Amino acid sequence: MNSIREFLDAEKPEGYGKRVLEELSKLNEKLNAFNNITGRLGEGMPFSVKDNICVKGVETTASSRILKGYMPAFNATVVQRMLDNKFSFIGKTNMDEFGFGSFGLNSQKPARNPFDENYVAGGSSSGAAVATSVLKYHVAMAESTGGSISAPAAFCGVVGFTPTYGALSRHGLIDYANSLDKIGIMARHAADIRYVFEMIRGQDPNDTTSIEGKYASEDRKRIILVDQLVNGIDKEVESSFMGLVDKLEGMGYKIIRKSVPFIEKAIPAYYTIAMAEASTHPASYSGFKYGYKNEDFTQHYNQFFTSAREQFGEEAKRRIVLGTFVRSASVRDKYYSKALKVRSLLLHELEGVLNEGFILSPTMPIQVPRVDDAGSLTPLEVYKTDIMTIPPNLCGLPHVSFPYAYHKGMPLAAQLVTKQWNDEAMLGLVDGWEKGFKYRFKYNIGELR
Ligand code: GLN
Repeated sequence: MNSIREFLDAEKPEGYGKRVLEELSKLNEKLNAFNNITGRLGEGMPFSVKDNICVKGVETTASSRILKGYMPAFNATVVQRMLDNKFSFIGKTNMDEFGFGSFGLNSQKPARNPFDENYVAGGSSSGAAVATSVLKYHVAMAESTGGSISAPAAFCGVVGFTPTYGALSRHGLIDYANSLDKIGIMARHAADIRYVFEMIRGQDPNDTTSIEGKYASEDRKRIILVDQLVNGIDKEVESSFMGLVDKLEGMGYKIIRKSVPFIEKAIPAYYTIAMAEASTHPASYSGFKYGYKNEDFTQHYNQFFTSAREQFGEEAKRRIVLGTFVRSASVRDKYYSKALKVRSLLLHELEGVLNEGFILSPTMPIQVPRVDDAGSLTPLEVYKTDIMTIPPNLCGLPHVSFPYAYHKGMPLAAQLVTKQWNDEAMLGLVDGWEKGFKYRFKYNIGELR
């Protein structure tokens, strides 16, 4: 289903755009999906932008206090391409500060799950997923470093697509970890994602890591279940997931089981690399060029920097300290260099498996947690919930999360992974799945009757 075409073809009643944004603002008081709703909804299909992607003249903070008041002087390439194609920008979406998190709770005002506000929205692109789940016609520009598109898309029951590394320009993205960051797209339907992806991808002179990909469209009708991703997960998740596997078998897919031993090392390798890279950025948030400005210029510069950096949240501080440690000369080989080796070995193993078909797993090893329960997990327990989403992110592989069932009113989702530049065939599978399964949404703001 292509809701973009449906929206563009539909006759909109008088005052439609204004009413949609009013309803959205009202609901936002409860769900905190948006950090600001500043756009105007004209004729174009609405799109939102995660708050770590620059929009000219619109406050962009990556949900961090340290960037409060930052007004970019330019549009990120993906934003400019959306505007050039007549999409209507509506606002900036909430997230874990700088992308650090899996549940959306590392934001000053955490987003809530639209199916039930007592549950988390997932993270770090929490607001993007909530916005997609409550707006009938909308696409979200989101970002993933280690699973930030898949995780919230899964918990909010929408489709979340992370493309091959380099497919979408990162120009105008506030870095978390450059070698891992990817801009991606969320929508209610895979067809909408394909439409937008084709429109905004491609090489960008402002981002030297962006590539004009040689896209394939290979579907060998095989689904691979990886032992390390299916064993030892939540029982409820496992049994409903096996139900999905049966249905895909019914759609003509052959199911194969494989072992990918290096997956067991993926979490430590990812957090070592991600934190190491993340810890190099705070230099720019010193209060001189970017970051909180203490107006007292008579202070010693150490004090001046400290007052800026005090603005970082707890998780950001943790990562800056750990990241700086693993990069330090005395332990570099022990941690950082070893993590890089794991990354290449994992890619090698995964490439072998992906030549045979798509990898399928649940998106998250747990069901959507309640805010209180997620809030009482230790940092390590939180990091461990990224077991499914980290492997493709660490290796720059395209992946997509889509809802496949509902349990006690909350969505359950699965994730497909494919080889580089086979993004479209993978989205095609999700499109096929949608033809026989009806997604549920609690809100349909903007519905046209
Ligand atoms: N949960 C992961 C982390 O905290 C992924 C976040 C992301 O993709 N931005 O690093």
